Amino acid sequence: MSTICSALGRSFGRRPRPLFASLQAEASRAFSSTRRRRIMDTSGFTDDELVVHDGVGKVCARFPNSYWQERDASEKDPQEFHAALADAGWLGIALPPSLGGVGLGLSEATMMMQTIAESGAGMAGAQAIHANVYATQPLAKFGTHHQLRETIPDIISGRSRVCFGVTEPNAGLDTLRLTTAAHEVDGGYEISGQKVWITCAQVASKMILLARTRSLDEVPKPSEGLSLFCIDLDRRRPGLEMRRIRKMGGRAVDANEVFFDRYRVPSSALVGAKGAGFAVALAGINAERCLVAGEALGLGYAALERAAAYARERVVFGRPIGTNQGIAHPLADAYMRLEAAKLATYHAARLYDKAGGGREGSSEQSSSVAVGVAANSAKYLAAEAAFTACERALLTHGGMGYAAAFDVERWFRESLVPRLAPVSREMVLNYVGERVLKLPRSY
Ligand SMILES: Cc1cc2nc3c(=O)[nH]c(=O)nc-3n(C[C@H](O)[C@H](O)[C@H](O)COP(=O)(O)OP(=O)(O)OC[C@H]3O[C@@H](n4cnc5c(N)ncnc54)[C@H](O)[C@@H]3O)c2cc1C
Repeated sequence: MSTICSALGRSFGRRPRPLFASLQAEASRAFSSTRRRRIMDTSGFTDDELVVHDGVGKVCARFPNSYWQERDASEKDPQEFHAALADAGWLGIALPPSLGGVGLGLSEATMMMQTIAESGAGMAGAQAIHANVYATQPLAKFGTHHQLRETIPDIISGRSRVCFGVTEPNAGLDTLRLTTAAHEVDGGYEISGQKVWITCAQVASKMILLARTRSLDEVPKPSEGLSLFCIDLDRRRPGLEMRRIRKMGGRAVDANEVFFDRYRVPSSALVGAKGAGFAVALAGINAERCLVAGEALGLGYAALERAAAYARERVVFGRPIGTNQGIAHPLADAYMRLEAAKLATYHAARLYDKAGGGREGSSEQSSSVAVGVAANSAKYLAAEAAFTACERALLTHGGMGYAAAFDVERWFRESLVPRLAPVSREMVLNYVGERVLKLPRSY
Protein backbone atom coordinates (compact mmCIF):
# COMPACT_ATOMS: atom_id res chain seq x y z
CA MET A 1 0.00 0.00 0.00
CA SER A 2 1.66 3.20 -1.10
CA THR A 3 -0.29 5.42 1.25
CA ILE A 4 -1.16 3.69 4.49
CA CYS A 5 -2.33 6.82 6.16
CA SER A 6 -4.17 8.51 3.35
CA ALA A 7 -6.02 5.27 2.73
CA LEU A 8 -7.02 5.35 6.37
CA GLY A 9 -8.09 8.94 6.02
CA ARG A 10 -10.09 8.46 2.85
CA SER A 11 -12.01 5.52 4.17
CA PHE A 12 -12.99 6.41 7.66
CA GLY A 13 -14.13 9.82 9.00
CA ARG A 14 -12.29 11.55 11.81
CA ARG A 15 -10.56 8.61 13.44
CA PRO A 16 -10.01 5.88 10.92
CA ARG A 17 -10.77 2.92 13.17
CA PRO A 18 -11.49 -0.18 11.05
CA LEU A 19 -8.41 -0.21 8.84
CA PHE A 20 -6.33 1.11 11.70
CA ALA A 21 -7.55 -1.86 13.70
CA SER A 22 -6.14 -4.26 11.10
CA LEU A 23 -2.82 -2.41 11.19
CA GLN A 24 -2.93 -2.66 14.95
CA ALA A 25 -3.44 -6.40 14.77
CA GLU A 26 -0.53 -6.73 12.36
CA ALA A 27 1.65 -4.59 14.58
CA SER A 28 0.78 -6.43 17.77
CA ARG A 29 1.70 -9.71 16.09
CA ALA A 30 4.97 -8.16 15.05
CA PHE A 31 5.61 -6.88 18.56
CA SER A 32 4.74 -10.15 20.26
CA SER A 33 6.44 -12.55 17.86
CA THR A 34 9.71 -10.77 17.27
CA ARG A 35 12.45 -9.97 19.71
CA ARG A 36 12.15 -6.29 20.61
CA ARG A 37 14.77 -4.40 18.68
CA ARG A 38 14.76 -1.25 20.77
CA ILE A 39 15.88 -0.58 24.32
CA MET A 40 12.95 1.76 25.02
CA ASP A 41 10.27 0.18 27.19
CA THR A 42 7.09 0.18 25.07
CA SER A 43 4.64 -0.73 27.82
CA GLY A 44 2.16 2.03 28.51
CA PHE A 45 1.93 3.17 24.91
CA THR A 46 -1.45 2.98 23.20
CA ASP A 47 -2.02 0.61 20.31
CA ASP A 48 -2.14 3.59 17.93
CA GLU A 49 1.22 4.87 19.13
CA LEU A 50 2.78 1.43 18.69
CA VAL A 51 1.33 1.10 15.19
CA VAL A 52 2.95 4.41 14.31
CA HIS A 53 6.27 3.28 15.84
CA ASP A 54 6.21 0.16 13.73
CA GLY A 55 4.93 1.73 10.47
CA VAL A 56 7.23 4.77 10.47
CA GLY A 57 10.12 2.52 11.54
CA LYS A 58 9.60 0.44 8.39
CA VAL A 59 9.93 3.51 6.15
CA CYS A 60 13.00 4.71 8.07
CA ALA A 61 14.66 1.30 7.76
CA ARG A 62 15.10 2.05 4.04
CA PHE A 63 17.46 4.90 4.97
CA PRO A 64 20.50 3.45 6.74
CA ASN A 65 23.05 5.39 8.74
CA SER A 66 25.34 5.55 5.68
CA TYR A 67 22.64 7.66 3.97
CA TRP A 68 22.56 10.13 6.87
CA GLN A 69 26.36 10.23 7.15
CA GLU A 70 26.59 11.12 3.47
CA ARG A 71 23.86 13.78 3.72
CA ASP A 72 25.52 15.29 6.77
CA ALA A 73 28.86 15.51 4.95
CA SER A 74 27.43 16.82 1.66
CA GLU A 75 24.85 19.09 3.37
CA LYS A 76 22.34 17.86 0.80
CA ASP A 77 18.62 17.81 1.55
CA PRO A 78 17.22 14.32 2.30
CA GLN A 79 14.48 14.75 -0.28
CA GLU A 80 14.10 10.99 -0.91
CA PHE A 81 13.36 10.51 2.78
CA HIS A 82 10.77 13.30 2.80
CA ALA A 83 9.21 11.80 -0.33
CA ALA A 84 9.12 8.28 1.17
CA LEU A 85 7.26 9.48 4.27
CA ALA A 86 4.88 11.53 2.14
CA ASP A 87 4.30 8.60 -0.17
CA ALA A 88 3.35 6.39 2.76
CA GLY A 89 0.94 9.09 3.98
CA TRP A 90 2.69 9.88 7.24
CA LEU A 91 3.02 13.64 6.70
CA GLY A 92 -0.69 14.07 7.38
CA ILE A 93 -0.57 12.15 10.65
CA ALA A 94 -2.20 14.87 12.76
CA LEU A 95 -4.33 16.49 10.05
CA PRO A 96 -8.02 15.83 9.45
CA PRO A 97 -9.04 12.99 7.11
CA SER A 98 -11.31 15.42 5.26
CA LEU A 99 -8.10 17.07 4.01
CA GLY A 100 -6.30 13.83 3.28
CA GLY A 101 -4.74 13.44 6.72
CA VAL A 102 -4.76 10.46 9.07
CA GLY A 103 -6.68 12.22 11.84
CA LEU A 104 -4.51 11.01 14.69
CA GLY A 105 -3.29 13.26 17.49
CA LEU A 106 -0.12 14.88 18.73
CA SER A 107 0.88 11.85 20.81
CA GLU A 108 1.04 9.72 17.65
CA ALA A 109 2.85 12.54 15.80
CA THR A 110 5.36 12.72 18.66
CA MET A 111 5.87 8.98 18.31
CA MET A 112 6.48 9.47 14.60
CA MET A 113 9.17 12.09 15.23
CA GLN A 114 10.77 9.97 17.93
CA THR A 115 10.86 6.96 15.60
CA ILE A 116 12.51 8.99 12.85
CA ALA A 117 15.27 10.27 15.14
CA GLU A 118 15.68 6.84 16.76
CA SER A 119 16.17 5.17 13.36
CA GLY A 120 19.56 6.88 13.06
CA ALA A 121 18.22 9.76 10.98
CA GLY A 122 18.59 11.93 14.08
CA MET A 123 17.55 15.56 14.16
CA ALA A 124 18.33 15.93 10.45
CA GLY A 125 15.65 13.40 9.50
CA ALA A 126 13.20 14.87 11.97
CA GLN A 127 13.82 18.47 10.91
CA ALA A 128 13.26 17.58 7.26
CA ILE A 129 9.57 17.10 8.03
CA HIS A 130 9.16 18.78 11.42
CA ALA A 131 7.44 22.00 10.22
CA ASN A 132 5.11 20.03 7.95
CA VAL A 133 3.67 18.48 11.11
CA TYR A 134 3.45 21.36 13.60
CA ALA A 135 3.28 24.49 11.42
CA THR A 136 0.23 23.04 9.70
CA GLN A 137 -1.64 22.88 13.03
CA PRO A 138 -2.58 26.59 13.16
CA LEU A 139 -3.38 26.44 9.46
CA ALA A 140 -5.70 23.45 9.92
CA LYS A 141 -7.43 25.15 12.87
CA PHE A 142 -7.73 28.71 11.57
CA GLY A 143 -7.18 28.55 7.79
CA THR A 144 -9.86 29.59 5.32
CA HIS A 145 -11.60 26.96 3.24
CA HIS A 146 -9.47 28.02 0.27
CA GLN A 147 -6.19 27.81 2.25
CA LEU A 148 -7.06 24.35 3.54
CA ARG A 149 -8.05 22.99 0.13
CA GLU A 150 -5.10 24.61 -1.66
CA THR A 151 -2.32 24.02 0.81
CA ILE A 152 -2.83 21.10 3.18
CA PRO A 153 -3.31 18.32 0.59
CA ASP A 154 -0.13 19.46 -1.19
CA ILE A 155 1.85 19.39 2.06
CA ILE A 156 0.54 15.93 2.93
CA SER A 157 1.34 14.53 -0.49
CA GLY A 158 4.84 16.05 -0.40
CA ARG A 159 4.22 18.26 -3.44
CA SER A 160 4.99 21.30 -1.33
CA ARG A 161 7.10 21.78 1.76
CA VAL A 162 6.61 24.33 4.48
CA CYS A 163 8.83 26.27 6.87
CA PHE A 164 8.04 28.36 9.96
CA GLY A 165 9.26 31.96 10.11
CA VAL A 166 9.21 33.44 13.60
CA THR A 167 12.73 34.10 14.95
CA GLU A 168 14.32 37.46 14.20
CA PRO A 169 17.90 38.56 14.85
CA ASN A 170 16.92 41.62 16.87
CA ALA A 171 14.15 40.02 18.93
CA GLY A 172 15.54 36.57 19.74
CA LEU A 173 13.51 34.81 22.40
CA ASP A 174 11.58 38.01 23.04
CA THR A 175 9.29 36.97 20.18
CA LEU A 176 6.70 39.66 20.84
CA ARG A 177 9.32 42.30 19.98
CA LEU A 178 9.61 41.06 16.41
CA THR A 179 9.46 43.85 13.86
CA THR A 180 8.98 42.23 10.44
CA ALA A 181 6.07 44.24 9.10
CA ALA A 182 3.18 43.36 6.82
CA HIS A 183 1.81 46.66 5.42
CA GLU A 184 -1.65 46.48 3.93
CA VAL A 185 -1.70 47.62 0.29
CA ASP A 186 -4.25 47.29 -2.45
CA GLY A 187 -5.34 43.60 -2.53
CA GLY A 188 -2.67 42.35 -0.20
CA TYR A 189 0.32 43.04 2.02
CA GLU A 190 3.94 44.05 1.53
CA ILE A 191 6.33 42.23 3.86
CA SER A 192 9.56 43.88 5.00
CA GLY A 193 12.02 42.63 7.60
CA GLN A 194 14.36 39.80 8.44
CA LYS A 195 13.97 36.29 9.84
CA VAL A 196 16.78 34.05 11.01
CA TRP A 197 17.40 30.33 11.54
CA ILE A 198 14.53 29.35 9.27
CA THR A 199 14.82 25.59 8.75
CA CYS A 200 14.15 24.22 5.25
CA ALA A 201 13.48 27.65 3.72
CA GLN A 202 15.63 26.66 0.69
CA VAL A 203 13.40 23.70 -0.15
CA ALA A 204 10.04 25.03 1.06
CA SER A 205 7.49 26.57 -1.24
CA LYS A 206 5.38 27.91 1.67
CA MET A 207 6.22 29.77 4.85
CA ILE A 208 3.98 30.17 7.89
CA LEU A 209 5.08 33.67 8.83
CA LEU A 210 4.52 35.74 11.95
CA ALA A 211 4.65 39.47 11.20
CA ARG A 212 3.39 42.76 12.57
CA THR A 213 0.33 44.34 11.00
CA ARG A 214 0.56 47.10 13.65
CA SER A 215 3.89 48.33 14.92
CA LEU A 216 4.91 47.94 18.54
CA ASP A 217 4.36 51.63 19.33
CA GLU A 218 0.76 51.44 18.05
CA VAL A 219 -0.40 48.59 20.28
CA PRO A 220 -1.25 48.60 24.01
CA LYS A 221 0.41 45.20 24.49
CA PRO A 222 3.24 43.60 22.44
CA SER A 223 1.09 40.45 21.97
CA GLU A 224 -1.31 42.55 19.90
CA GLY A 225 -0.88 43.63 16.29
CA LEU A 226 0.78 40.37 15.20
CA SER A 227 -0.68 38.40 12.30
CA LEU A 228 -0.01 34.95 10.91
CA PHE A 229 0.34 34.38 7.18
CA CYS A 230 0.75 31.39 4.92
CA ILE A 231 2.82 32.79 2.08
CA ASP A 232 4.33 31.47 -1.12
CA LEU A 233 8.12 31.56 -1.21
CA ASP A 234 8.57 32.58 -4.81
CA ARG A 235 12.27 33.23 -5.32
CA ARG A 236 11.69 34.67 -8.82
CA ARG A 237 9.70 37.59 -7.42
CA PRO A 238 11.45 40.73 -6.11
CA GLY A 239 11.82 41.36 -2.41
CA LEU A 240 12.82 37.87 -1.21
CA GLU A 241 16.37 36.71 -0.46
CA MET A 242 17.82 33.84 1.52
CA ARG A 243 21.26 33.09 2.85
CA ARG A 244 22.16 29.64 4.18
CA ILE A 245 23.75 29.45 7.65
CA ARG A 246 26.64 27.00 8.17
CA LYS A 247 25.95 25.04 11.32
CA MET A 248 27.21 22.46 13.78
CA GLY A 249 24.74 19.60 13.28
CA GLY A 250 21.73 18.47 11.28
CA ARG A 251 23.66 19.68 8.26
CA ALA A 252 21.51 17.87 5.74
CA VAL A 253 18.71 20.33 6.38
CA ASP A 254 19.23 23.98 5.56
CA ALA A 255 18.90 26.85 8.03
CA ASN A 256 18.64 30.38 6.72
CA GLU A 257 18.53 34.08 7.08
CA VAL A 258 15.51 35.25 5.11
CA PHE A 259 15.19 38.87 3.97
CA PHE A 260 11.94 40.49 2.88
CA ASP A 261 11.90 43.86 1.15
CA ARG A 262 8.37 44.92 0.23
CA TYR A 263 7.64 41.32 -0.76
CA ARG A 264 4.08 41.22 -2.02
CA VAL A 265 1.55 38.63 -0.78
CA PRO A 266 -2.23 38.52 -1.40
CA SER A 267 -4.81 39.28 1.33
CA SER A 268 -5.83 35.61 1.16
CA ALA A 269 -2.47 34.69 2.76
CA LEU A 270 -3.71 35.85 6.18
CA VAL A 271 -4.42 32.95 8.58
CA GLY A 272 -7.07 33.67 11.21
CA ALA A 273 -8.01 37.21 12.21
CA LYS A 274 -5.73 40.13 11.48
CA GLY A 275 -3.95 41.11 14.68
CA ALA A 276 -4.67 37.79 16.38
CA GLY A 277 -1.53 36.10 15.07
CA PHE A 278 0.04 35.38 18.44
CA ALA A 279 -2.96 33.38 19.68
CA VAL A 280 -3.21 31.62 16.30
CA ALA A 281 0.50 30.70 16.33
CA LEU A 282 0.17 29.27 19.84
CA ALA A 283 -1.74 26.34 18.34
CA GLY A 284 1.59 25.28 16.83
CA ILE A 285 3.95 26.30 19.61
CA ASN A 286 3.00 23.76 22.30
CA ALA A 287 2.72 21.08 19.64
CA GLU A 288 6.27 21.85 18.53
CA ARG A 289 7.61 21.48 22.09
CA CYS A 290 6.16 17.95 22.26
CA LEU A 291 7.49 16.98 18.85
CA VAL A 292 10.98 18.24 19.70
CA ALA A 293 10.85 16.30 22.97
CA GLY A 294 10.03 13.16 20.96
CA GLU A 295 12.90 13.88 18.57
CA ALA A 296 15.31 14.31 21.48
CA LEU A 297 14.18 11.00 22.98
CA GLY A 298 14.75 9.22 19.69
CA LEU A 299 18.24 10.63 19.42
CA GLY A 300 19.04 9.63 23.00
CA TYR A 301 17.76 6.06 22.63
CA ALA A 302 19.68 5.62 19.35
CA ALA A 303 22.92 6.78 20.93
CA LEU A 304 22.44 4.73 24.08
CA GLU A 305 21.62 1.57 22.19
CA ARG A 306 24.75 2.03 20.10
CA ALA A 307 26.84 2.67 23.21
CA ALA A 308 25.54 -0.44 24.96
CA ALA A 309 26.33 -2.58 21.91
CA TYR A 310 29.84 -1.16 21.74
CA ALA A 311 30.36 -1.66 25.48
CA ARG A 312 29.36 -5.33 25.14
CA GLU A 313 31.71 -5.93 22.21
CA ARG A 314 34.79 -3.81 22.71
CA VAL A 315 37.44 -5.75 24.64
CA VAL A 316 40.22 -3.88 26.46
CA PHE A 317 42.37 -5.33 29.28
CA GLY A 318 41.00 -8.72 28.28
CA ARG A 319 37.31 -8.02 28.98
CA PRO A 320 34.39 -6.09 27.47
CA ILE A 321 34.54 -2.45 28.51
CA GLY A 322 30.90 -2.71 29.70
CA THR A 323 32.15 -4.90 32.55
CA ASN A 324 33.60 -1.74 34.09
CA GLN A 325 31.05 0.06 36.23
CA GLY A 326 32.64 3.33 35.12
CA ILE A 327 31.14 2.55 31.70
CA ALA A 328 27.98 0.67 32.74
CA HIS A 329 26.63 3.01 35.41
CA PRO A 330 26.58 6.22 33.35
CA LEU A 331 24.76 4.31 30.59
CA ALA A 332 22.22 2.84 33.04
CA ASP A 333 21.70 6.31 34.49
CA ALA A 334 21.21 7.74 30.97
CA TYR A 335 18.58 5.07 30.28
CA MET A 336 16.58 6.00 33.38
CA ARG A 337 16.73 9.68 32.46
CA LEU A 338 15.37 8.90 28.99
CA GLU A 339 12.60 6.72 30.38
CA ALA A 340 11.55 9.46 32.82
CA ALA A 341 11.60 12.07 30.05
CA LYS A 342 9.56 9.69 27.87
CA LEU A 343 6.78 9.65 30.49
CA ALA A 344 6.82 13.45 30.67
CA THR A 345 6.75 13.74 26.87
CA TYR A 346 3.79 11.47 26.21
CA HIS A 347 1.93 12.92 29.20
CA ALA A 348 2.29 16.38 27.59
CA ALA A 349 1.27 15.21 24.13
CA ARG A 350 -1.80 13.38 25.43
CA LEU A 351 -2.76 16.42 27.51
CA TYR A 352 -2.49 18.57 24.38
CA ASP A 353 -4.76 16.16 22.52
CA LYS A 354 -7.25 16.05 25.38
CA ALA A 355 -7.42 19.83 25.60
CA GLY A 356 -8.18 20.09 21.89
CA GLY A 357 -4.82 21.63 21.15
CA GLY A 358 -4.75 23.62 24.41
CA ARG A 359 -4.77 26.89 22.53
CA GLU A 360 -4.98 30.14 24.41
CA GLY A 361 -8.26 32.00 24.04
CA SER A 362 -10.23 28.77 23.75
CA SER A 363 -12.73 27.69 26.38
CA GLU A 364 -9.95 25.42 27.66
CA GLN A 365 -8.06 28.37 29.19
CA SER A 366 -7.05 26.57 32.38
CA SER A 367 -5.86 23.49 30.56
CA SER A 368 -3.97 25.73 28.16
CA VAL A 369 -1.58 26.62 31.00
CA ALA A 370 -1.36 22.96 32.04
CA VAL A 371 -0.52 22.01 28.45
CA GLY A 372 2.09 24.77 28.24
CA VAL A 373 3.76 23.68 31.48
CA ALA A 374 3.72 20.02 30.48
CA ALA A 375 4.98 20.66 26.94
CA ASN A 376 7.79 22.96 28.10
CA SER A 377 8.78 20.55 30.88
CA ALA A 378 8.84 17.65 28.43
CA LYS A 379 11.00 19.55 25.97
CA TYR A 380 13.44 20.50 28.73
CA LEU A 381 13.69 17.03 30.29
CA ALA A 382 13.95 15.15 26.99
CA ALA A 383 16.59 17.56 25.65
CA GLU A 384 18.74 17.17 28.78
CA ALA A 385 18.31 13.37 28.82
CA ALA A 386 19.23 13.16 25.13
CA PHE A 387 22.32 15.32 25.57
CA THR A 388 23.46 13.17 28.50
CA ALA A 389 22.91 9.95 26.53
CA CYS A 390 24.67 11.26 23.42
CA GLU A 391 27.69 12.56 25.33
CA ARG A 392 28.07 9.30 27.25
CA ALA A 393 27.63 7.27 24.06
CA LEU A 394 30.45 9.21 22.46
CA LEU A 395 32.75 8.78 25.48
CA THR A 396 31.95 5.06 25.67
CA HIS A 397 33.40 4.72 22.17
CA GLY A 398 36.70 6.30 23.25
CA GLY A 399 38.59 7.66 20.24
CA MET A 400 36.19 5.94 17.86
CA GLY A 401 33.42 8.14 19.21
CA TYR A 402 35.12 10.97 17.35
CA ALA A 403 34.96 9.15 14.00
CA ALA A 404 32.03 9.95 11.70
CA ALA A 405 31.59 6.27 10.76
CA PHE A 406 30.38 5.45 14.28
CA ASP A 407 27.47 7.98 14.13
CA VAL A 408 27.67 8.98 17.79
CA GLU A 409 29.58 12.20 16.98
CA ARG A 410 26.79 13.18 14.54
CA TRP A 411 24.11 12.51 17.12
CA PHE A 412 26.11 14.35 19.80
CA ARG A 413 26.36 17.44 17.58
CA GLU A 414 22.64 17.22 16.92
CA SER A 415 21.76 16.77 20.60
CA LEU A 416 22.48 20.47 21.14
CA VAL A 417 19.51 21.46 18.97
CA PRO A 418 16.68 20.47 21.36
CA ARG A 419 18.51 22.30 24.15
CA LEU A 420 18.62 25.54 22.13
CA ALA A 421 15.41 25.50 20.13
CA PRO A 422 12.58 26.23 19.74
CA VAL A 423 12.96 27.73 23.19
CA SER A 424 16.05 27.77 25.38
CA ARG A 425 16.48 25.94 28.67
CA GLU A 426 16.54 29.24 30.55
CA MET A 427 13.22 30.39 29.12
CA VAL A 428 11.56 27.08 30.06
CA LEU A 429 12.83 27.51 33.61
CA ASN A 430 11.54 31.11 33.62
CA TYR A 431 8.14 29.91 32.40
CA VAL A 432 7.79 27.20 35.05
CA GLY A 433 9.07 29.56 37.76
CA GLU A 434 6.40 32.09 36.90
CA ARG A 435 3.44 29.91 35.93
CA VAL A 436 3.78 27.09 38.45
CA LEU A 437 5.78 28.53 41.35
CA LYS A 438 4.28 32.04 40.99
CA LEU A 439 7.72 33.60 41.32
CA PRO A 440 8.20 37.20 40.21
CA ARG A 441 9.14 37.66 36.58
CA SER A 442 12.86 38.26 36.26
CA TYR A 443 12.93 40.03 32.88
C1 LIG B 1 19.04 24.42 14.39
C2 LIG B 1 18.04 25.50 14.63
C3 LIG B 1 16.86 25.51 13.89
C4 LIG B 1 15.93 26.53 14.08
N1 LIG B 1 14.80 26.57 13.28
C5 LIG B 1 13.96 27.62 13.37
C6 LIG B 1 12.84 27.75 12.48
O1 LIG B 1 12.62 26.90 11.61
N2 LIG B 1 12.06 28.84 12.59
C7 LIG B 1 12.25 29.80 13.54
O2 LIG B 1 11.48 30.76 13.59
N3 LIG B 1 13.32 29.72 14.40
C8 LIG B 1 14.16 28.66 14.34
N4 LIG B 1 15.25 28.56 15.19
C9 LIG B 1 15.50 29.65 16.14
C10 LIG B 1 15.37 29.25 17.59
O3 LIG B 1 14.03 29.08 17.93
C11 LIG B 1 16.07 30.33 18.41
O4 LIG B 1 17.46 30.23 18.14
C12 LIG B 1 15.82 30.19 19.85
O5 LIG B 1 14.49 30.53 20.11
C13 LIG B 1 16.76 31.09 20.65
O6 LIG B 1 16.70 32.42 20.19
P1 LIG B 1 18.04 33.26 19.98
O7 LIG B 1 18.95 32.37 19.21
O8 LIG B 1 17.74 34.56 19.38
O9 LIG B 1 18.62 33.44 21.45
P2 LIG B 1 18.63 34.78 22.33
O10 LIG B 1 17.24 35.28 22.53
O11 LIG B 1 19.64 35.71 21.76
O12 LIG B 1 19.15 34.22 23.73
C14 LIG B 1 20.54 33.94 23.94
C15 LIG B 1 20.75 33.30 25.29
O13 LIG B 1 20.30 34.19 26.32
C16 LIG B 1 19.39 33.54 27.18
N5 LIG B 1 18.36 34.47 27.64
C17 LIG B 1 17.74 35.46 26.93
N6 LIG B 1 16.84 36.09 27.69
C18 LIG B 1 16.86 35.49 28.91
C19 LIG B 1 16.16 35.69 30.12
N7 LIG B 1 15.22 36.62 30.27
N8 LIG B 1 16.44 34.87 31.18
C20 LIG B 1 17.39 33.91 31.08
N9 LIG B 1 18.10 33.68 29.94
C21 LIG B 1 17.83 34.46 28.88
C22 LIG B 1 18.76 32.45 26.32
O14 LIG B 1 18.23 31.42 27.11
C23 LIG B 1 19.94 32.01 25.47
O15 LIG B 1 20.71 31.08 26.20
C24 LIG B 1 16.18 27.54 15.04
C25 LIG B 1 17.36 27.51 15.79
C26 LIG B 1 18.29 26.52 15.59
C27 LIG B 1 19.58 26.54 16.38
